[in-house]
Amino acid sequence: MADQHAQLDWNDQGQPLSRLYDDVYFSREHGLEETRYVFLTNNDLPQRFAALKSGEQLVIGETGFGTGMNFLCAWELFEQQAPAGARLHFVSVEKHPLTQHDLQRALSLWPSLQRYSAPLLSAYVALNPGFQRLVFDSGRVVLTLLIGDAKAMLPQLNTRIDAWFLDGFAPSKNPDMWTPELFAQLARLSTPATTLGTFTSTGYVRRALNEAGFQMKRVPGLGKKWEVMRGTFTAPASALSKPWFARPTYRPSERRALVIGAGLAGCATAGSLAARGWQVEVLERHASIAQEASGNPQGVLYLKLSAHGTALSRLIVDGFGYTRRLLEHLHKGQEWDDCGVLQLAFNEREAQRQAKLAAAFPDTLLLQVDREEAEQHAGVALASGGLFYPNAGWVHPPALCQLMIDHPNVQLRHCQEALQLKHENGEWQAWSGEQLIASAPVVVLCGAADITRFEQSAQLPLKRIRGQITRLPVSPESTVLRTVVCAEGYVAPARNGEHTLGASFNFDSNDLTPSSAEHASNLDLLREISADLTDRLQADAIDIEAAHGRAAFRCTSPDYLPIVGPLADADAFAEAYAVLARDARQVPQIPCPWHDGLYVNSGHGSRGLITAPLSGELIAAWVNNEPLPVPQDVADACHPNRFMLRQLIRKG
Ligand code: SAM
Repeated sequence: MADQHAQLDWNDQGQPLSRLYDDVYFSREHGLEETRYVFLTNNDLPQRFAALKSGEQLVIGETGFGTGMNFLCAWELFEQQAPAGARLHFVSVEKHPLTQHDLQRALSLWPSLQRYSAPLLSAYVALNPGFQRLVFDSGRVVLTLLIGDAKAMLPQLNTRIDAWFLDGFAPSKNPDMWTPELFAQLARLSTPATTLGTFTSTGYVRRALNEAGFQMKRVPGLGKKWEVMRGTFTAPASALSKPWFARPTYRPSERRALVIGAGLAGCATAGSLAARGWQVEVLERHASIAQEASGNPQGVLYLKLSAHGTALSRLIVDGFGYTRRLLEHLHKGQEWDDCGVLQLAFNEREAQRQAKLAAAFPDTLLLQVDREEAEQHAGVALASGGLFYPNAGWVHPPALCQLMIDHPNVQLRHCQEALQLKHENGEWQAWSGEQLIASAPVVVLCGAADITRFEQSAQLPLKRIRGQITRLPVSPESTVLRTVVCAEGYVAPARNGEHTLGASFNFDSNDLTPSSAEHASNLDLLREISADLTDRLQADAIDIEAAHGRAAFRCTSPDYLPIVGPLADADAFAEAYAVLARDARQVPQIPCPWHDGLYVNSGHGSRGLITAPLSGELIAAWVNNEPLPVPQDVADACHPNRFMLRQLIRKG
């Protein structure tokens, strides 16, 4: 798919103009001043930011992110006005994001905003279509960019918006951003406290907004602009979702949480909660973090996508972006590398699948390459071309775990194995035999398939699949390998004198001792990837019995989506929604019988590097009633209740 980036022209004053819409991104004479007046003042943001209390948040929604100037001005004002402990969420939709280069050029016009534009520019990577979350100031300011057409993206959003910025070019130049259909989406996300500001005072826009439930008022504009508009939402708030996927209303008086397990999912969850001011205790049965599936020397950012926009595929694109931005904080070359990932078209079926993917995704994410181009990327001879993911690469997963868990609010307690959970006086207690190890009002289960040991989560259909990697010592000839290359298996460029080759799939074994049979099958995977690389590594001469490797369990669910979200009481759930067995279309208005404060983040299979970090944000969003970092239907597709729901419906 062609590049979706904005095509810009630059005028004599160095300001950007959209070639497609033939309009300016901001007012020529009064850029910052107009933004501050139209969007900040007219939404009463100075007073509203100042009135926030610690632990509270304000959510701004914007149509048209453009250069991000409105966002940066809102962030600046928030920093000036809001107390410590308050948080800003900014959700903005953008169909044609600027390239990083153009963004840098545009933002250089506002040196006074440099304190904010610099972090935006460094985080401005891997903004592929979907929900892209960017986190600033240790989580005090969170930006969720909905990359795509507003008409398609806004219906996927499910959060309360406190203030709207309507900024989608002039209605005469871009009527698509000013339709009754789009305003109905704004209304769906608004409450009677929601306000709106926009630079336009066009009659039909005012009438359509009034019609949607906003009471609009024309107010004087700045400079040449006579009038702009402000408004408040006056209609009642609409119900947001089905009760089994609705937001639990339980909010503990104390922001204390227990996280069980310190792999990728646990570290991500702990970090995301800590960033929101929660005190988090992490219980880990091993002597340190990342000892199981997250402990391999190199993991691959392998995106297994679908051209049909399935929930899993969208989660992968969103998760990849989030992880990729986190990696910018790690040591490149040692802890990760964006060396690119090549997925070979190893048979006709795979080649056809790849052609569909190349048509469905922008070539900034993936591009089809022929054999010659593939060899140039990889540095070794290959049997075919394939798909190249230029921004992907390998990661040392323990380093990512460490980065995420590293927060003063997180206390790691190692060698603590929780075996049982009890709910007493509004607190979850973690017990190990007769010993009470810890307690807190909120607990998040992040222990892969072992979480089925707890009575409350025993019903979750998690399965373990053993996987083994082989560590291949680098040879003088193998250092030419420049990208990760994958067919059925994968091999990564050298790190610390060895290549990681993986990984076997073994559905039957419960043993974690590395086996020679699985080393042998990994070497078969290598031969399939590249005969040339196999020779360079002298892999045919390797003594399999003496090979080094590591085995761990992947944890998967029946639909391959992770299991992330709040848990309900299984028996009470079956009783409350029993009617679904007779008629699956019913939506009984019975509140879901949640286990108050109990959440799960598990089932990440072999793609934990991509889905677990964003799932930490998803858990934190559920716990804090914040905008979700993924579309609502993706969150529903990951919801722990989906299995109980399907079971009920199947009974019918
Ligand atoms: N708020 C921006 C700023 O601070 O720089 C300026 C926004 S600019 C006036 C309008 C933006 O709306 C452009 O970036 C454009 O690509 C985007 N846009 C236009 N039509 C759109 C659509 N249908 N869906 C999503 N974004 C759209």
